[in-house]
Amino acid sequence: MCGIIGKIGQSEAIAELYDGLIALQHRGQDAAGFVTLAEDKFYLKKGLGLVREVFLPKDLAAFQGRSGLGHVRYPTAGARVGEEEAQPFVLNTPFGIALAHNGNLTNAEDLSAKLLKNGYYLTSKSDSEVLLVLFADLLKRHNKKELTTEGILTALSELMQQAEGAYSVVTLLRGFGLVAFRDPAGFRPLIIAERAEGFAKEYLIASEPSSAAVLDYKLIDDVAAGEAVLIDFQGKLERRRLVKSEHKPCIFEYVYLARPDSVLDKLSVYKARLRMGERLARQILQSELEIDVVVPVPDSSTTAAITLAYNLGVKYREGLVKNRYIGRTFIMPGQAIRQKSVRYKLTPVDLELKGKKVLLVDDSIVRGTTSARIVEMVRQAGAEKVYFASAAPPLRWPCVYGVDFPTRAELVASNRDLNEIKQLLGVDALFYQTIEDLRAACGDGRTDLNPDLKGFCAACMDGHYPVGKIDEAYLKGLEKS
Ligand code: SF4
Repeated sequence: MCGIIGKIGQSEAIAELYDGLIALQHRGQDAAGFVTLAEDKFYLKKGLGLVREVFLPKDLAAFQGRSGLGHVRYPTAGARVGEEEAQPFVLNTPFGIALAHNGNLTNAEDLSAKLLKNGYYLTSKSDSEVLLVLFADLLKRHNKKELTTEGILTALSELMQQAEGAYSVVTLLRGFGLVAFRDPAGFRPLIIAERAEGFAKEYLIASEPSSAAVLDYKLIDDVAAGEAVLIDFQGKLERRRLVKSEHKPCIFEYVYLARPDSVLDKLSVYKARLRMGERLARQILQSELEIDVVVPVPDSSTTAAITLAYNLGVKYREGLVKNRYIGRTFIMPGQAIRQKSVRYKLTPVDLELKGKKVLLVDDSIVRGTTSARIVEMVRQAGAEKVYFASAAPPLRWPCVYGVDFPTRAELVASNRDLNEIKQLLGVDALFYQTIEDLRAACGDGRTDLNPDLKGFCAACMDGHYPVGKIDEAYLKGLEKS
């Protein structure tokens, strides 16, 4: 998972890109970068760390231009975490292209072998660079001296036939403008927003609407699955659906990845999380367990915990306080950092836990190590019983579409039954959302909300990968890498 943003218009780009990317910081804390374009020259800087760490005011002053891209990165399956994989990527020839990508290609190896055979070279192990070079190659084939709208659309149409996997992308084309596109399954979100600036319009394309909101842009729409959006330097907007196939956005965006204030593909993340709590409550009520207090593991489970407590008729209490200035542990690369960070990220409120039968609620259980540490902390604070509820079903399969839980060995639920997981976490009872309830909570079947949406990708929970040849050999290769 990454966060991307692109801007084109009349005002200087960098200040807006900076504020807009900060609103997407939750999507990646590993690296950040910007590129702007002025008078045929790209201004690029990227580095490891948070946006605020990589960019000081003096760095921002060096950027020029009224169009640009931004990217926050979080390493994906099998990916390295070096500076050379930070984005955006820039390619000077044939036309001058900058690109920022959110997702993961599942056939990057095949594509990269083909490109190398055709005389191209790559400077990193990143699948995003493969996408960039493929795009450059297709642009060259379908445009003569100058880029044209039809030439770009034909290149993108072919790109969508060749590239498999997840890609929500913003690009900047020298001599043309801003071009964005979303893969035919629409795994990762992408929105388009506009703002009037004098007589002209400015456009923003970003992973989530939060960027548009902070910059006072009006949301126009989601970029549809398989759609390309072209905005030239004169402000002319062209949208075209290049491939019509089944739209299967990532259900984990609604569980954990996206901000609660986001409405993605016309479905509210906040409402989905409220319904996750309601559905969990129905299941827990059947167990007839005695519960004194519902305590969310902050932050992404708090919305579900509110409706869960309400529907159980039990008190909701903030029994764990989070230090907001430490990054999300799931997002930090490396198990050692994750384990250490739990200890100084959360503090138990003894008063709300001591002598109580506590139901902890989390959005999901990935590796289980964080959950086990939290349970231990709550017991040390004097809880009489500790129960645990996960708003997501067991995560049993790796994500090959851009979320970092790559190996089955790392996923606590991949080869354990409920009882074994319960023991590993050290809890007195354990509840998981069912996959049917999760789909229902996210609005599956609500075609009145979004007739285009026929379902979600839930491959990490059910093992059905909607795109690519994802078989045992592929997963083994991924685990090896
Ligand atoms: Fe999202 Fe899971 Fe599908 Fe990956 S496998 S895209 S995390 S639902």
